[in-house]
Amino acid sequence: MPNMSLTKVPAEEQEPLVRNQNFLEVTMSYTPDQAVEEARRCLSCKNKPCVAGCPVNVRIPEFIAKVAVGDFKAAYEIISDTNALPCVSGRVCPQENQCEERCVRGIKGEAVAIGRLERFVADWYLKHGNALPEKPQPNGVKVAVVGSGPAGLTCASDLAKRGYAVTVFEAFHTAGGVLVYGIPEFRLPKAIVQSEVDKLKALGVDLRLDVVVGRTITIDELIENGYEAVFIGSGAGLPMFMGIEGENLAGVYSANEYLTRVNLMKAYRNDHDTPLRHSRAVAVVGGGNVAMDAARCAKRMGAEKVYLLYRRDEEEMPARREEVNHAKEEEIDFRLLTNPVRILGNEKGQACQIECMRMRLQAPDESGRRSPKAVPGSNFFLNVDTVIMALGTSPNPLIRSTTPGLETNRKGCLVVDEDTMRTTREGVYAGGDAVTGAATVILAMGAGKKAAQAMDEYLRGKRA
Ligand code: FAD
Ligand code: SF4
Ligand code: SF4
Repeated sequence: MPNMSLTKVPAEEQEPLVRNQNFLEVTMSYTPDQAVEEARRCLSCKNKPCVAGCPVNVRIPEFIAKVAVGDFKAAYEIISDTNALPCVSGRVCPQENQCEERCVRGIKGEAVAIGRLERFVADWYLKHGNALPEKPQPNGVKVAVVGSGPAGLTCASDLAKRGYAVTVFEAFHTAGGVLVYGIPEFRLPKAIVQSEVDKLKALGVDLRLDVVVGRTITIDELIENGYEAVFIGSGAGLPMFMGIEGENLAGVYSANEYLTRVNLMKAYRNDHDTPLRHSRAVAVVGGGNVAMDAARCAKRMGAEKVYLLYRRDEEEMPARREEVNHAKEEEIDFRLLTNPVRILGNEKGQACQIECMRMRLQAPDESGRRSPKAVPGSNFFLNVDTVIMALGTSPNPLIRSTTPGLETNRKGCLVVDEDTMRTTREGVYAGGDAVTGAATVILAMGAGKKAAQAMDEYLRGKRA
């Protein structure tokens, strides 16, 4: 008999006012008993609507059926057949808009907690069966991967498993992309990302850190040096600003810089001396996941007051519902329908106030979206010593500007053939945020996988 409870088995969480003082993970993994109980809520639907909602088509009912009978190893094997980083996706996938959105149990009650179950299985495997993979038989063909985010890691892993001699070139001193420099420790522990990177090394992948492709070496030089195909997974790390007065003052950060200092450079740890302003009052501008992460980090870094300024209302916030709720519980002060117009500085050139205007949403336009309009005379000031701009990012122009023949669209994203992820240069493939603009981890992984398959076919074709 299935478990017909209308609600998910809850996952334990740290208390909000405890967790907003530390960087430990907020939500705990299910225990085996909890996982089995939740798995029994799945109806094993014949037409599997949940699978169609997953960008990498994890065989959801099959893995959940294994969890329901306590065979966690078999469940892991089913998930990892199509999903290279389940420890990551189980934590950060926007499941509520993907697999869980399609779950029939969600019609009356809550969907099956597919993400929590996936995380449980992946965490269980990490503890109980996480053997390093065996090195495959080498085929002697050199392939380069630019960037070690989820797109690059997935592509490198799939190519290495096929025997290619893969070299990953990463600009930072640590591999993992946004998984290490953007998403904070309390949502995604870095030891998990490291274990995935260790698996890559065990497959024989050569990881070259601190190499900026386009500056240290160009794509053309890589090809001249014998790399027969190249995958570009360089992400979308270039932050946007509002273009308002005061953005150059000390204490104004892009969310990327702020999060990199906190997460990658460990500003929150006493054994690291990463410089970061000791803020008392912080304004974070934006309404996406990045804004939530920045605000929650600022609180944990000791700020007494953290405002979140967003020009639309809560319903229109692009951030995951779970992140919004967590941020509110952690005492982030949401100021909705609020838009900054100027940042004011003190005599030392440091930000000290932000001037804002109240906004009103207009009737929906052709796209159905209600655009915000400033209410005349509604200006007001907030005293803040730090402003963090989380307004979105775009791909860095470095690679496209140093690689002749690589076409980009008007947003600066690389143009690819969607079936093969091939760019406008022969032998050069791309995927992830570098192609889509800022998107999701699971889409980046899916693109890396698709590209690896196409690169393999291309390289085999060259030899036929
Ligand atoms: P990235 O992860 O950006 O990796 C690109 C890598 O390439 C980086 O390591 C970079 O240093 C390197 N690189 C760039 N240029 C060069 C160069 N010239 N030479 C060498 N290396 C280079 N998605 C979700 O699904 N769920 C979430 O909860 C979520 N939260 C997020 C929170 C934050 C703060 C941010 C910033 C993003 C979040 N995202 C989330 C989005 C998600 O992380 C990205 O969509 C995903 O990481 C894109 O993967 P990628 O491999 O394309 O690029
Ligand atoms: Fe759901 Fe993401 Fe797992 Fe797919 S990868 S089943 S969308 S949590
Ligand atoms: Fe199970 Fe929901 Fe998928 Fe049906 S839709 S198989 S109940 S997870």
